[in-house]
Amino acid sequence: MSKIILTDIDGVVLDWSGHFNKYLMQYHPEQKLMNPTTFSQTEDIGVMIEDFNKTAWIGFLDAHKDAREILPILKNEGWQIYGCTSMGSDQYANALRKQNIENLFPDVFAKLDIIPFMEPKGKWLSQWRGSGAIWVEDKWSNAIAGADIGLKTYLMKHEYNAQHDHTGIEKVDNWTQIYNKVT
Ligand SMILES: [Mg+2]
Repeated sequence: MSKIILTDIDGVVLDWSGHFNKYLMQYHPEQKLMNPTTFSQTEDIGVMIEDFNKTAWIGFLDAHKDAREILPILKNEGWQIYGCTSMGSDQYANALRKQNIENLFPDVFAKLDIIPFMEPKGKWLSQWRGSGAIWVEDKWSNAIAGADIGLKTYLMKHEYNAQHDHTGIEKVDNWTQIYNKVT
């Protein structure tokens, strides 16, 4: 059995929403975030999300739930962990993200790929077709993209994505549940 974990970062490994909500409280208290994975709520928020991803704040996210406890255990048990984040391509923001990940998860990730803002992950995932890897996401369309090429896909549950169902996508509350399913 291959021991490869492919994972999204925001809303899965890092607590992006919690941090963004603190930012809104400080700078845009009149705004409220509903769903960080789409622009569908209002265009304003989409622009704010893209801007936020280029602020100094992006270097200081906390881990999502139990990610900080469980990912190092998986790594130590021989899993290779590859991250993919569509945070945007500002070079300094990208450097802050890599520092943030390395601070919270030293030597845990085999590689972290950063793709353009909100770019779908189907192309990135296609390199892992047939690999037997597992795929962890919170954005519904990216979860489907993984399941549709045969990756064992886990959706990290949030208020904004829990209403969906799709063959091949299993919903989980945290990394402990993933750990118990894959080990
Ligand atoms: Mg995400």
